[in-house]
Amino acid sequence: MLDSIQQIDKKATWEAILSKIFLLIDRSHLLTFFLNSAILSYEDGILKIGFATIVGSDYMKTKYHSKIFPFVKEVLPDVVKIEYELSASLAEKDHPDKLPVDLFMTIIGSGGTKPRKVPNKQEVLLEGGMRSKMLNKRYTLQNFIPGNENKLVHAACLAVGAKPAGIYNPLYIYGDVGLGKTHLLQATGQEILKNFPRQRVVYMTAENFVNKIVEAIGKKHTKPFKDEYRNLDCLIVDDIQFFANRATSEQEFFHTFNELYDNGKQIILSADKPPRELDGFDDRLKSRFGMGMLIEVQKPSFETRLAILKAKCGEYQVLIDPEVIEFIAFNVTHSVREMIGVLVTAIGEAQLENATPTIRSVAQVIRKLSRDQDVGEIDLRDQNKTVVRDTEDVLDIVAKYFGSTKSELIGLDRKKEIMIPRQVSMYLIREILNHSYEAIGENFSGRNHTTVMHACNKVVTQMKVDQKMQRDINALKKELGF
Ligand code: ADP
Ligand code: MG
Repeated sequence: MLDSIQQIDKKATWEAILSKIFLLIDRSHLLTFFLNSAILSYEDGILKIGFATIVGSDYMKTKYHSKIFPFVKEVLPDVVKIEYELSASLAEKDHPDKLPVDLFMTIIGSGGTKPRKVPNKQEVLLEGGMRSKMLNKRYTLQNFIPGNENKLVHAACLAVGAKPAGIYNPLYIYGDVGLGKTHLLQATGQEILKNFPRQRVVYMTAENFVNKIVEAIGKKHTKPFKDEYRNLDCLIVDDIQFFANRATSEQEFFHTFNELYDNGKQIILSADKPPRELDGFDDRLKSRFGMGMLIEVQKPSFETRLAILKAKCGEYQVLIDPEVIEFIAFNVTHSVREMIGVLVTAIGEAQLENATPTIRSVAQVIRKLSRDQDVGEIDLRDQNKTVVRDTEDVLDIVAKYFGSTKSELIGLDRKKEIMIPRQVSMYLIREILNHSYEAIGENFSGRNHTTVMHACNKVVTQMKVDQKMQRDINALKKELGF
């Protein structure tokens, strides 16, 4: 019955169905599978829904089918059966039957009874004549994911936001870089403004503070500076370890601190260490810092890291394979900043090619970062299938690329067709795995190290003059995850 196909507008029908079922489906599944989904056909009471991945269609069958059927029937009363199918073309960005991303996000994001309008509210708040300085509205206590590890610090920030200058004064948060100190400080400032819109809240880094003092002293005008900072309701100073051994600034900060504190104003500080371990600080100041609440930010657990990454994907409105997210959470453990950095870089690079990050591309980003910053090795326990570890892996990929075999590559045949792939393999093993010429020679039928050296040099020279060689090497490196 061709007629019935034309009777429905696929997009509008899918929109209507999604609006009814989205609350039944895990948010991560919505983001991972449903963005690339659409109605494929509706014929003789059979509704076919397509997903870009087989995981998506299988998930629907096993997990959600019985839950959603009654809701689909509300939209299509004559439906007798729903089928879920793989339709790879749905991965294409401009597939005509897919809902546009923004519409999709609106349906699943702010539909139903769960409006998510926090950012706008903050905007209004900040534009409404607030005397707040340097607060970044992206950082809120609502989008900080505390996990079990940082429940306490999160609760303390909420408490300060609800009742500034109460028992947690000063609030002193310390810990390693990239674990969320700045986020919490800024967010607490916002929370205070949300609850007490008339308060004057200033956030600054210790470095800003020092620069301003130095400037004021240079102009011989320190009074305006003093007045400005001593008239606040809440002063937030980030990374105060920067005051170490800067006696004048430290002194000025000490006065500001005392005056605010004595007048019952809130002070929030962060540092890389607890007060007693701060070097180059006056003892009086250290003991003042310790008068209120001291809390350390902890490294998040695997589960928390996963939750942070998922929240970020939601924020960026991108869908990433859960395995890839787990791979990042598993491998980047010491800094949330860095972990988010890996995610963003991987998304950015994939988008250039209209794709989404894969385990291989993510491994590459992590490796690049660890090379730049010496953050340690990636742990590939479960994932080694996609990442190069040894000579075998290189040989496999090169052999496939040139349509030869591994034994030909390492063998002694001097046919011209095999010479180039062999030299390329040696070069890549040297480049990527950093093996010695001797060790490479061993693996290539016990060749002499000078032969290997010669082969590697030949590839390097060739790349300079031969574009095809350059392309081959680039393609292979990419294939190898570099
Ligand atoms: P620090 O000041 O301790 O060096 P930041 O506050 O700059 O760290 O955090 C680095 C990044 O990680 C920021 O983008 C921040 O939003 C994010 N971040 C850290 N911890 C969390 C968390 N628990 N939930 C959500 N985002 C987090
Ligand atoms: Mg910081």
